[in-house]
Amino acid sequence: MQDKKINIAVDGFSSCGKSTIAKGLAKQLLYTYIDSGAMYRAVALFAIRNGWISDSEINEEQLRQHVADIRITFKTNQQGEQETYLNGENVENDIRTLEAANGASRVSTLGFVRKALVEQQQLMGKEKGVVMDGRDIGTVVFPEAELKLFLTASPEIRAQRRFDEMKAKGEKPSLEDVLANVKERDLRDTTREESPLRKADDALELDNSAIGIEEQLQWAIGMFNKITTKDEQN
Ligand code: C5P
Repeated sequence: MQDKKINIAVDGFSSCGKSTIAKGLAKQLLYTYIDSGAMYRAVALFAIRNGWISDSEINEEQLRQHVADIRITFKTNQQGEQETYLNGENVENDIRTLEAANGASRVSTLGFVRKALVEQQQLMGKEKGVVMDGRDIGTVVFPEAELKLFLTASPEIRAQRRFDEMKAKGEKPSLEDVLANVKERDLRDTTREESPLRKADDALELDNSAIGIEEQLQWAIGMFNKITTKDEQN
């Protein structure tokens, strides 16, 4: 394996398997995986718990004043899975609800929230050897990332995947609600003013609607090998 570490950005729409590929890559390359979406979800959870998010609005002033009090960290549990901590409390389950997902999509439109999280994410990638997934990793967080992947899949397929995941965890969502949530988040992610979701010009795009995880991972590793070998020759 190559000695020189790089940063890998994995972007794409919600529920299109970014984390599976990003985690798989990190495991195989012995890199650090960072779930940037979990950070937006943790900010949303903080705001929800404080009563700053209602159906119609977000109390931006309160959130702005307290955004510096939000400390997000990751720890690996005994099963080797990464879990998210909000000010020292394990919130991994609480941030995976539809309410937190929706809240994340809303707080992520706020410039001061993005600025605070992007700064932390850039620090995490300073030493390289990071695989980070999200919406703006290849465009804003690591515009210099040596490898950028952009995943897509149809909204129906993504909703079905999310639905299956939630059911496996014992939740009972309706497929219609999950699809509506996927579409609503897509719209907000692509049309927001602050760092909207878009493919970086130099990202490699993969529509994984009909491709299995193993095949995607092989493709990603192939791209990694191509890039790092080329770098070594230069
Ligand atoms: O990836 P995940 O679905 O967990 O992200 C939750 C929400 O956080 C997304 O719907 C998106 O609006 C926002 N997000 C973002 N930028 C990122 C990661 C997530 O705006 N880098």
